Amino acid sequence: MSIWNPWHGCQKISPGCANCYVYRRDESIGKDASVVTKTGDYGLPLKKNRQGQYKLTPEEGTVYTCMTSDFFLDLADGWRQGCWDMIRQRQDLEFHIITKRIDRFAQCLPPDWGEGWDNVTICCTCEDQDRADYRLPIFLSLPIKHREVICEPMLGETDVEKYLATGLIEKVTCGGESGDKARPCDLRWIQEVRRECIRCGVRFYFKQTGAVFVKDGRVYRIGRRLQMTQADKSGYSYTPGENSGSRIRYELPERRALTERLSRSDFRSRFHLTPADIAYIAEKGTDTIRRHAQDFVAKRLAAENPDKDGKQTPMKGHPVFIAQHAAACCCRSCLEKWHHIPSGKVLTEEEQAYIVDVLMQWIEAEYKRGQGRT
Ligand code: SF4
Ligand SMILES: [Zn+2]
Repeated sequence: MSIWNPWHGCQKISPGCANCYVYRRDESIGKDASVVTKTGDYGLPLKKNRQGQYKLTPEEGTVYTCMTSDFFLDLADGWRQGCWDMIRQRQDLEFHIITKRIDRFAQCLPPDWGEGWDNVTICCTCEDQDRADYRLPIFLSLPIKHREVICEPMLGETDVEKYLATGLIEKVTCGGESGDKARPCDLRWIQEVRRECIRCGVRFYFKQTGAVFVKDGRVYRIGRRLQMTQADKSGYSYTPGENSGSRIRYELPERRALTERLSRSDFRSRFHLTPADIAYIAEKGTDTIRRHAQDFVAKRLAAENPDKDGKQTPMKGHPVFIAQHAAACCCRSCLEKWHHIPSGKVLTEEEQAYIVDVLMQWIEAEYKRGQGRT
C-alpha cells in the first residue's frame, strides 16, 4: 500500500474524532492539527523518478488517500479538483478514500464522475449506530462503484445489517480505539457486525482490538503493538466463500491446545462416558459411532440457524451427546466461542468433518480409558 496525503489537518465533526490520531500526533510535536495546509506531496500520483517512471506503481497496491485529513473537508474545496484530475489520469492505481463527510460527497465531485470511477473506493466511517443511520442511507444513494464501511473506532453496538443487505457494500472493517484516552470496545459489538456480514455475504475485517478491549465483561488493556496482532490472531476476519481460517486444522498441536483448554473448564471436564455408553460403543463399533456423529452434526448443528440452538444436544442418551458437551460442540455459540467457527451460516463440509474428528477423538480416548476400567 502507499499513502498520499495531499493536505494535512482537519476539523473534528463527530464522536469518532474525539481522540483523532492526527491531533494526537501533531500535539506531540507542538503543531495545531486544526490548521489545514496543502502538503509537498500534493502532486504525488503524477510524480516521476529520474528514470521517468511514476513513483506510485500498481505493484505497491492500494493508495490510501488523505489519511491525515478528510478528503471532503470544506477547507480543502479549492484543492480537491486537482486531486480528481490526478486520480483520473492514474487509472492504473486504486485509490481508497476514507471519510466522515459523506454528506458533502455529492457537491465535491468532478463533472465527469457519472456513475462513479472504477479506481476509486469510498470508505464511509460509522463509529456508532447514530452515525451509521445518518451516513449509510446517504452513502448508499450516491453513485459509487466500490463502497466499504469502517466501524472504527467502534464506540457502541452498531447494527448495519439492513444496509449490508442491499448488496452495495463490499467490505466492513471494525476496530477499537488506540491511545491513552481510548474508549472501550466490546468484542460482542465486533462479533455482531461479523455475524451480519456472514449473513449478507460481505467481507469482514477485524483490524484492531484498540487499547481498551472488553471480552466477556472483563476489561483488558492492550499494548499498542498487540492491538493488531491480537485481532489478527482471533481469526475473526471473514471472506465469503473461504473457510473461517486456519483454526479448522486439527493436527496434533491444535488437538493438544484444545484438550488443554477444555481441561481447564470445570463444566466441560465434568463429562465422562458411563459404563452403558462404553458397552454401547463396544457393541456398535467406532465406525458406526462416527456415522452417528456425522448424522447428529449434519442434522442438529449444520443449518444457518439450527432448531432450538443452545438446547439441541441432550445431556445423556448417546456417547456422541456427551462428547459434544465435553468438547464444546453442543451448539453454534459454543462452536464459535471454542472453535472459532462462525455462527449464522451453514457449516461447510470441512467444518462438519472437523467437528466429527474432535468428537471421535474425545470418544476414543474415553472409550480406551473406560475399557481399562472394566
Ligand atoms: S474526520 Fe478524521 S481526520 Fe478529521 S478530525 Fe475526525 S478523525 Fe480526525
Ligand atoms: Zn453449547
